[in-house]
Amino acid sequence: MTANSRHPETIVLHAGHRADPATGAVAVPIYQTTSFQFKDTQHAQNLFALAELGNVYTRIMNPTNDVLEKRIAALEGGVAALAVSSGQAASAFAVQNVAHAGDNVVSSTDLYGGTWNLFANTLKDQGIEVRFVDPADPESFRRATDAKTRAYYAETLPNPKLTVFPIKEVADIGRSFGIPLIMDNTAAPILCRPFDHGAAIIVHSMTKWIGGHGTSIGGIIVDGGNFDWEKHAVRQPYLNQPDPSYHGAVWTQAAKPLGPIAYIIKARVTLLRDFGSAASPFNSFMHIQGLETLALRMREHCRNAQAVVDWLAKHPAVGKVIFPSLFTGEQKRRADYYLSGGYGGLVGMELKGGREAGRRFIDSLKMFYHVANIGDARSLAIHPATTTHSQLSPAELTASGVSDGFVRLSIGIEHIDDIIADLDQALAAAPIRAAAQ
Ligand code: PLP
Repeated sequence: MTANSRHPETIVLHAGHRADPATGAVAVPIYQTTSFQFKDTQHAQNLFALAELGNVYTRIMNPTNDVLEKRIAALEGGVAALAVSSGQAASAFAVQNVAHAGDNVVSSTDLYGGTWNLFANTLKDQGIEVRFVDPADPESFRRATDAKTRAYYAETLPNPKLTVFPIKEVADIGRSFGIPLIMDNTAAPILCRPFDHGAAIIVHSMTKWIGGHGTSIGGIIVDGGNFDWEKHAVRQPYLNQPDPSYHGAVWTQAAKPLGPIAYIIKARVTLLRDFGSAASPFNSFMHIQGLETLALRMREHCRNAQAVVDWLAKHPAVGKVIFPSLFTGEQKRRADYYLSGGYGGLVGMELKGGREAGRRFIDSLKMFYHVANIGDARSLAIHPATTTHSQLSPAELTASGVSDGFVRLSIGIEHIDDIIADLDQALAAAPIRAAAQ
């Protein structure tokens, strides 16, 4: 019964595991082993030929990772998943699985900086062109598409702008061309299920809210099983033509007996096999621990973030608060349509006192941690103009939604009174007016 639940609170505790088959252990065991003994040569042959699915070597597959993969696939409403060593590896593989040198991908401009770098520089060096378009206008994806476009890419709730991506609008455009939409859902687990709106692939940095405790780096790719790769054989050659790296396998055919999992099988047995960015079973165990309380934590993150927003909006040192519930017009419609149960745990604010106020505010925090991470159970803060975005020119800062006095807060699950008390005393140290230039 629990295995079929549609409720995220139940899925995160039960999907993919019902006591360890070997020992009866209720907690998911950490299978800290590199290799798995074959029953006999026929068994080994079947595993290598993909005639049977099973464990061979932990770089490709591991029982602890498998529970995590099944659980997150169930949570997102997908059919299968692949855990990898970081969110960055997940984003890279998600694209490289369908795009090769000479191809292109159309991506939203509103991306995590690491993904931006990967797309603008590293994938470019590999011959994959990423065309960046403004997500405010979904039609910009159509305009940037040509015969070599293999995927669309975006984040559900990108920071610092926090403008929710028009998933259905862009997924529909993609589907009309045979192009899958890959959504990075890192900042909105539980709150949004991109597959329900037509996305084909989801990636997460599990380092953030899924892990939730700031202990382990990890990423995951989820296959929605809802994209007809075979129907778009010209647009999607790498899933439909013989793959020389796997003795000529045609992935849409090879995966048929196993379900609609051609995309994720290919990523596992080619990209993960060759690049080796495997998730360690220990980190997967930590992510499973985090996942168990994800639904509960997201409720608290959202509730506390909204309370912080309401309080900051009245504070004299704060010029502007950036949070989806405060948007108007189309941006608010998208936030309300795509998010349910809250608007997430990230809050932006612009301090009237500019760069100096941002610096003093951060230096005065006592409970918030000053870190580059987001999505920890603890509250976190950073002043991008003096850290993550310090290399950018004033014009580039503005384009990326970061002003001199902008501060990013990742609101934790501490008692709201303590969160506000810390913000209050730190804001008291920040000058209310910007220094004359
Ligand atoms: N995607 C988003 C939205 C992120 O915020 C991050 C990291 O900050 C990543 C991907 C990359 O994840 P990782 O740090 O686990 O490699």
